[in-house]
Amino acid sequence: MFLGGALFAQGPAVDENALRAHLAFLADDVLEGRGTGQRGGELAVRYLETQLQVMGLQPANGASYRQTVRLAGIRLDAAGSAVRFESASGVLSPELGTDLVLGAAAAESAVAVDAPLVFVGHGITAQDGSRDDYKGLDVRGKVLVMLVGDRHEGPPMPLCCEPENLYGRWTYKFEEARRRGAAGALLVHTTASAGYGWPVVRNGWVQERFQREGAGHPGAVQGWITEGLAARLFARSGLDFKALAMGADSLAFRPVPLSIRAKGQLASTVRRLEQWNVAGLLPGTDADLRKELVIYSAHWDHFGKGADGAIYAGAVDNGTGCAAVLALAQALAHRPLKRSVMFFFPCAEEQGLLGASAYVAAPLWPLDRTVLNVNLESLNVVGPTRDIGLLGSKEPRLRALCEQAAAAAGLVITPAKADPAGLCFRSDHFPFMKAGVPALSPGFSLDGGWDYLGDKAAAQAKAADFLNHYHRPTDRYDPAWNLAGLLQQVRFALELGRLAGTVPNAR
Ligand SMILES: [Zn+2]
Repeated sequence: MFLGGALFAQGPAVDENALRAHLAFLADDVLEGRGTGQRGGELAVRYLETQLQVMGLQPANGASYRQTVRLAGIRLDAAGSAVRFESASGVLSPELGTDLVLGAAAAESAVAVDAPLVFVGHGITAQDGSRDDYKGLDVRGKVLVMLVGDRHEGPPMPLCCEPENLYGRWTYKFEEARRRGAAGALLVHTTASAGYGWPVVRNGWVQERFQREGAGHPGAVQGWITEGLAARLFARSGLDFKALAMGADSLAFRPVPLSIRAKGQLASTVRRLEQWNVAGLLPGTDADLRKELVIYSAHWDHFGKGADGAIYAGAVDNGTGCAAVLALAQALAHRPLKRSVMFFFPCAEEQGLLGASAYVAAPLWPLDRTVLNVNLESLNVVGPTRDIGLLGSKEPRLRALCEQAAAAAGLVITPAKADPAGLCFRSDHFPFMKAGVPALSPGFSLDGGWDYLGDKAAAQAKAADFLNHYHRPTDRYDPAWNLAGLLQQVRFALELGRLAGTVPNAR
């Protein structure tokens, strides 16, 4: 603590007024929710690059603060799309949006489906051979029905950020279905396994969806179905969904064919577009260490303006992170570190970490000389805490720096928790981590389960209430927000970056 105080006495300060002003602007309706492929997103990009320029930071991509990311946008044309389920006992025609959401799995304007369903449990084939839910089944030409998560009621989850947790992620399941050449993949939604309610799924799929150009699964359909629809589909095949779902925890699980076919077609409007990561550089002061880099990141995008005109302002997600990285840039701009620092605003995080993934595929600085990524995402707007949670890399050396930074910021690190919703894989530190760069999202927590100062129960209730606004138009900036907790998180990030930017061997 004493050492921390000393560090702060000499260290740069974080300007709360500036941070609040950035947050209020980025979450303002004038930016229309910073949507991918929307004008509001372009305004956000223009704002961020202007701020970096005003602070005297160098463009990170030659003469430009932007890195182009090529995407394909796919919007389902609901009027021209329908899927029904046919079995010996008749035809089931569920309602799009209410019972299921569907989309083309690649950037194709027309996709037809006529394929039998097969239940593949959690749809996991572990690389280490410890688990294979497919048991060698040839799933080409079949539509897979899969559970979200990696267990129904099995043994307790491993702690967050363990590699085996990745198999619970829905993105992994779609990738595995693609790898195996399935005709489609349908995930069964439950709030417990997904970590969010059906409206979040529906909102995400009725809008235009994006993928990196050239990605996707040509000829296939993807989607989610409600647990209720799953129960009806299984019942039509004479099967009990609940019992089979329970049985899917077992390593002995074998795929179960349903005597039911999905038939129909999806029509989509497809467009190709460019989006931009924004990045500014602060060169390091040490002749050798300046060749190494610390990256602060925060995704600038949110869901923009919905089809119904509603603005998804994305104040917490992720106006807070962007404002924090701008405040960090301001704090460090005239006090460079020994190592170089990049202030990085990836695009299209909400679409599946597309901007950060594009960056690690074509980095603006060698990844093997990037010592740390500190990613700021959905920060605390409730009030000050005693602790700070960490998602991401667990290298002992990095964790030791985190302990030091937390002490300097007057915080203790929350012990790692189980991560049933896979938060560790849903934020932009993850593509860096996957590419071998030590990477963390400090402070990010959807459950808000921190140890708040003052009236802890009231603060936790407030934090939990954020779930009611998560990915909805009501995630709006409130000038009454107490940013003391957010400032603690920024101070932690500042201190961690200062340590990683200064100590002799940072990785
Ligand atoms: Zn989000």
